[in-house]
Amino acid sequence: MTIAKVEPLLTTRRVQGPFDYRVPASMQVSVGSILVVPFGRRRVKGVVTGLAEHSDLPPERLAEPFEALDAGVPPELVELGSWVGGEYCSTPSRGLGLVLPPGTGTGAEARRVRPLVELEYERTAAGEAALTDGSRLGLRQKAALRALAAGPRPARALAHSAGADRSTLRRLEQRGLVSSREVERRRRPDSPAVGAAGPVIELNPAQAAAAATIVRALGSGGEWLLHGVTGSGKTEVYLAAAAEALERGLGAIVLVPEIALTPQTMDRFRRRFGERVALLHSRMAAGARYDEWRRLRSGEARIAVGPRSAVFAPVADLGLIVIDEEHDSSYKQESDPRYDAREVASERARLAGAVLVAGSATPRPESWERMSRLELPERVDRLRLPPVEVLDMRGGVRGALHPRTVEALAAVRDAGSKAIVLVNRRGWSAHLCCRSCGHAWQCPHCDVSLSLHAGAEPAPGGAAGILRCHHCGHSEPKPERCPECSSVTIARVGAGTQRIESELEQLVAPLEVFRLDSDSAGAGSHAQLLGRFERADAGVLVGTQMVAKGHDFPEVTLGVVLDADAGLRLPDFRSEERTFSLITQLAGRSGRGRAGGRVLVQALSPQAPSISRAANHDAAGFLGEELGRRRELRYPPFSHLIEVLLASEDERRLEAAAGDLRALVAERIGDDVELLGPAPLYRLRGKHRRRLLAKASERGAAVAAVREAVAAAVRGRRLAEVAVSVDVDPQ
Ligand code: ADP
Ligand code: ZN
Ligand code: ZN
Repeated sequence: MTIAKVEPLLTTRRVQGPFDYRVPASMQVSVGSILVVPFGRRRVKGVVTGLAEHSDLPPERLAEPFEALDAGVPPELVELGSWVGGEYCSTPSRGLGLVLPPGTGTGAEARRVRPLVELEYERTAAGEAALTDGSRLGLRQKAALRALAAGPRPARALAHSAGADRSTLRRLEQRGLVSSREVERRRRPDSPAVGAAGPVIELNPAQAAAAATIVRALGSGGEWLLHGVTGSGKTEVYLAAAAEALERGLGAIVLVPEIALTPQTMDRFRRRFGERVALLHSRMAAGARYDEWRRLRSGEARIAVGPRSAVFAPVADLGLIVIDEEHDSSYKQESDPRYDAREVASERARLAGAVLVAGSATPRPESWERMSRLELPERVDRLRLPPVEVLDMRGGVRGALHPRTVEALAAVRDAGSKAIVLVNRRGWSAHLCCRSCGHAWQCPHCDVSLSLHAGAEPAPGGAAGILRCHHCGHSEPKPERCPECSSVTIARVGAGTQRIESELEQLVAPLEVFRLDSDSAGAGSHAQLLGRFERADAGVLVGTQMVAKGHDFPEVTLGVVLDADAGLRLPDFRSEERTFSLITQLAGRSGRGRAGGRVLVQALSPQAPSISRAANHDAAGFLGEELGRRRELRYPPFSHLIEVLLASEDERRLEAAAGDLRALVAERIGDDVELLGPAPLYRLRGKHRRRLLAKASERGAAVAAVREAVAAAVRGRRLAEVAVSVDVDPQ
């Protein structure tokens, strides 16, 4: 008898498998199979996590699955998904939810997305003869038979080119002049056409040395940090390593921050490897995503390129995982399971014996400390890193732009070149404040200020204009007067992207100003906006940190960062790291062509180490200092953080639940774990929140303790009306 251990795909924390089912002899089942099983009175889908010959349950209590779906999950991904469920204090089922074929759906229904099958026609020998032997053929029949001279064609194509509809083809088939069969058509992502293959670039000595080290490790594994300054040609190293992996029959996964913002990297892979590359990201149509997944599963495609979820791509014989721009925050998933794709990649590489390469100009302190380094210290083609000038905005500077910034932008206008301006705040201004009584406008659902956005009319000087909450999306009209004191003098504090855009339009006219932020265009068209900026002869790109991603625009001669130290004023131990990275990355967009470039950084605390180190392009110096500070304060990588967030509309229940949970965690952790909180966080979407934070030296034990404490609280029904989420390695 075969027993399948099945994890039902349920989202609740209350039910955790695996549960035993008896597999009938007629059913093909292996680890990774997706079954529809009876579960209580319901039918649910479940993943087979193991097979056994015996069950501890008596035979009469063993149920049989209703059916097995035709596509399953590779066994190594079952292992990885289960690992993620545990490692991030989620559930096995939610972990497995990450590795399912796209469009599987969790309900009992059959797959939501199915393969696309169509009829393909082929001419028979009789069909060929019929064209010349005087057989009676209609015009359309003749056209169809001629169109088939070059080989089999799908019905769709025949209808299009020969005007042959279904009935024409059916009649030909009845006469034995054509034969038909069902073939599967793979749907492809409809991203912009891929450019020509282009010549393979010859690696410079530093690139060649880095690639050689990676290639030597193919087949045995290892982890490297590829630290290359901006424009040092890291992508060429990834391409060379991937080419060699393919050469040896190994597959590769290439993780990129966000496809819409980094289309260039994806394009370079597709240009180099063509059909062997599959794309996987959530904005693709469901059918195309499913088919790309299956192209990888079947081995038709050997390289998966995509954002964080592509770490779960079904690439067989995995030899290489690349994490491009490894410092990017999008590698962390911010909903349960809150996995970090960089950690998952490391685990997957370890399980598969694959090489992991994480590349960045501004690596995370964690990676700097943990991984062996490969260095690309210079830009390609002897291009220099641009000089960076820090502008002191204290005292005397009026408006959002320093006089030197105004001057530099005017020079870009006169020369007809390109500039990028980073403003780390969207909207028109940060918030409103009554000049008479100090009243501030707050979101009714969250304890945060509302931001002013330009309304339908471009200038919010008039009545048009909206106040928006950047956390919950609440919006209300811009006020005419203060509700407290009726004053009509309302100050707009802090400049956002919209206001800077409008200032720049005045300043650099007739050059075009392109605004890139999450309000500026539907997500799909961010790539289009970047494309328009790239093709324009001249112009200014202004936006949030999106403008500092890995873009390679050779005509950009000026980079500007406004309010560079805004982040340093937030209470977060990663704010130095983020500030350093933001400035360095933005600087990296300037001077990538023959015309050279420069960078201006406006700040209120120009002497802050993260700013001065970035201005000197000194990553090693910054990271050394930052690691010293973290060691002293016992922050990652010298400890592991686990955050438990509780949220509820009912503050009393929340207090009680937070106290209970703290006690349950405290019972289970060792002396090495520092447990902080519960501390109140600002209200979000109408919910009060509390946070518990554990700082541990030993990760595994602490994660297990928190996981068990949460499970105990759920079992003891102590979390009624309270939502709990656990974040391991919170960002
Ligand atoms: P990074 O990712 O390190 O910022 P890229 O990989 O985007 O740098 O490379 C920057 C530019 O340099 C690209 O246009 C790339 O084609 C070019 N490039 C890379 N390596 C070489 C090389 N060895 N010789 C000439 N050009 C190169
Ligand atoms: Zn007032
Ligand atoms: Zn809100």
